[in-house]
This record gives sequence, C-alpha cells and structure tokens, in this order.
Amino acid sequence: MNAIYLAAIGNVDERIMKNLETNVWQVFGFDVQRTFPFSDPAYAFNPERNQYSSAVILREMLKQKPADAECIFGVTNYDLFIPMLSFVFGLAQVSGSAAVISLARLRQEYYHLPANDALLRSRSVKETIHELGHTFGLTHCADTQCPMSLSNTIQHVDRKGEDLCKNCSLILHETIQQRHGAHNAVEKL
Ligand SMILES: [Zn+2]
Ligand SMILES: [Zn+2]
Repeated sequence: MNAIYLAAIGNVDERIMKNLETNVWQVFGFDVQRTFPFSDPAYAFNPERNQYSSAVILREMLKQKPADAECIFGVTNYDLFIPMLSFVFGLAQVSGSAAVISLARLRQEYYHLPANDALLRSRSVKETIHELGHTFGLTHCADTQCPMSLSNTIQHVDRKGEDLCKNCSLILHETIQQRHGAHNAVEKL
C-alpha cells in the first residue's frame, strides 16, 4: 500500500509535524512517511503581495513526490495565496496527489493574541483533514461542524470539529477502497 508523505516546507516545528503524522494516519488509514524537508520556497514568492503562491508550491511538491506516495502533503509557515483571494489556509488538487497548508494564519499571534500551542495544533489538524480530504475527492460539506466545511476565516476554522461527518467519512472510505492509479486533478482551495 502507498504512503501519505508529509513534507515540511521551510522550517516547521517538529511537534506540529508529529501531531499531524498521528492524525493523518488515524483518519486516512495510510502509512505516513516523511520526505526530506523542502527548502524555503523562494521560487513561489510574490513580492507585490508579500506572500507565496500555493499553486507554485504544489507543482514543486509534485515534481519531488516519492514514487510510492499516494499523496504528498506540505506544511509551511509561509502565508499562501491564490490569485483571486487575499489568502488561503491551504490548497489541494481535488482527487489528486498533492496538498499544502499554511500555519501563518492558524497562529493566535497573527491576530495579535497570545500564542496557544493546543489551538494551533487543533487548527492544523482540521485544515490538514480538509485539504487531504480534497485529494481523496471530498468536496465542501454543508455541515459546519465537519472539517470539510469551507473556512474563509479563523472563526470558521474554530467552529469546525476534527472529526469528519458521517457522510464525508463514508465517501472517504469508499474512495480509499476504489482508488486506483489514474487521477484527473484540478486545484481547489
Ligand atoms: Zn462532512
Ligand atoms: Zn476546501
């Protein structure tokens, strides 16, 4: 069976990576491996926006995807964008094999509040399940408690839980069972 590979893009706190490793294994049931850390994504930097292009980072990750990777999942501290939005918490290829999240706006410090490691860990788990869920074909869920519901703000992230709703969970398990090599990937935040 293939593995889901986690990749730190730039410097990322090891405690965050370890926690995601455990949660990804629990939710998706794949063996979870680590890639070598990716360097700072200077190639994706947009100086006008002072942000990093999530789509460019995804493409770079796909180039370096290990042969036995079901999916490669990037975690970065850099603030990410796509052209039509001021920022994104993450980006994934729907039914594809790459996704990335940014921790930048999941930190309380971003909102001028005291750091809260437990909250950061929980938010990063929700956004990881969300973006990896897209790579397994899950779409946005109407259940506001479900991690597959769309978050445009940190309040939305905090309203969600860490557990997939019954429906998303069912679809995920069917997809994992049916999944085979050919992917027709499109990008979705
Ligand atoms: Zn759901
Ligand atoms: Zn989404």
